[in-house]
Amino acid sequence: MKVIKFGGTSVGTPDRMKKVAELIAKEQAIVVLSAVSGTTNSLVEIAQLLFQNERNKAKKQIETLKDSYHTFVNELLSSATQQEKAHDLVASHFSHIDSFTKDLFTIHEEKTILAQGELLSSALFQLYLEEIGVHSCLLPALDFMRIDKDLEPDSFYIKHNLERELTHCQSKLYITQGYICRNVFGEIDNLKRGGSDYSASLIGAAIQATEIEIWTDIDGMHNNDPRVVEDTFSIEHLSYDEAAELAYFGAKILHPASVYPAQLYNIPIFLKNTLEPTKTGTKIEQQLGDREFTAIAAKDGITAIKIKSGRMLLAYGFLRKIFDIFERYKTPIDVITTSEVAVSLTIDDNTNLDAIQEELRYLGEVEINKNLSIVCVVGNFSHDTMGSGNKIFTSLQHIPIRMVSYGGSQHNVSIVIETDYKKEALVSLNNGLFNQN
Ligand code: ASP
Ligand code: MG
Repeated sequence: MKVIKFGGTSVGTPDRMKKVAELIAKEQAIVVLSAVSGTTNSLVEIAQLLFQNERNKAKKQIETLKDSYHTFVNELLSSATQQEKAHDLVASHFSHIDSFTKDLFTIHEEKTILAQGELLSSALFQLYLEEIGVHSCLLPALDFMRIDKDLEPDSFYIKHNLERELTHCQSKLYITQGYICRNVFGEIDNLKRGGSDYSASLIGAAIQATEIEIWTDIDGMHNNDPRVVEDTFSIEHLSYDEAAELAYFGAKILHPASVYPAQLYNIPIFLKNTLEPTKTGTKIEQQLGDREFTAIAAKDGITAIKIKSGRMLLAYGFLRKIFDIFERYKTPIDVITTSEVAVSLTIDDNTNLDAIQEELRYLGEVEINKNLSIVCVVGNFSHDTMGSGNKIFTSLQHIPIRMVSYGGSQHNVSIVIETDYKKEALVSLNNGLFNQN
């Protein structure tokens, strides 16, 4: 069985949802859906208004979103019975959302509100399938998708509960919600923004799917950021390691966590375009390609922290003390470089920066730089190849470089620069690494 996931834009209009139905009608698959595009953002805003006690504004926004769904239903369905079912469904989800405008608003209620987008899109999609005579079963993600106390997916729970759900209803086709799950207390939670890809990959791993397809509105992973650089092209083949680096360092097409569960069971991931379904897209699998440079990605909002100390000279245990502080504040480190007397590292989450800085002061002189970007060049830089670094740095010779990390893995060179130089860096690298002939 396959797992096929469609993102928000793929189900963003009634017409697009109908196209998705056409694409999957003959498949044997679990279909994972995101919320209709724009819905999760709107639900986030509603929750924010409720946290600020702006109940009237929240109610207005709920009303607007509800109206857009009634219009959606009218365009999606034509039979009177299906329309009635769908309007009732929309009404009941929105009255649930509305019930949270009455009194104190909590984080649990926020999570429940955020879950409504996927619940709605999947149920409406199934009503449409019913209307066109395609049999499917709706699998409630809240009955099998779960995170543990460390907010990590509970694979054992997911596998066993999903297996049970699959036997409850027999069909070639199953529909389920991406993104939403329960937490260790059984409360409604989610896999964070963009998490539907992760849902698809976790489901793929749980059922040992033959493949996982991720359908979005672009024809696969590109060799550079198409929002910044012209003439990017889609990469036909990527290894899991390359895909994970690119997704983590900014390629928006795929949630970074979604690579690992597929990799664990060697399940290929295909990135496909709903708008141009016949295009090849990208295949992600174990096998490495033989090219030198695969792609470039960039991640903004980076802060670099330098800790300089004479005590580091010839000392051991210094790095452990530094990492210990970041671990206590649950702040992941992305890039790290060291010299004999200083360490520079980057983080992308400044929530606890002040407290971290305070503690680092005991270890040495601390310098902080914000508004940086990590430019990540992905390819094959095995230890016996020559000249790759030269090509990268020649392309970047007019750009000030704050940090470089080379050799951490065979597939990644990370360069930290000021975000103001990002566009220039991406364009120059594109010319230097991909357009030489
Ligand atoms: N609907 C969620 C979001 O917008 C999850 C997803 O689309 O992957 O973040
Ligand atoms: Mg997405």
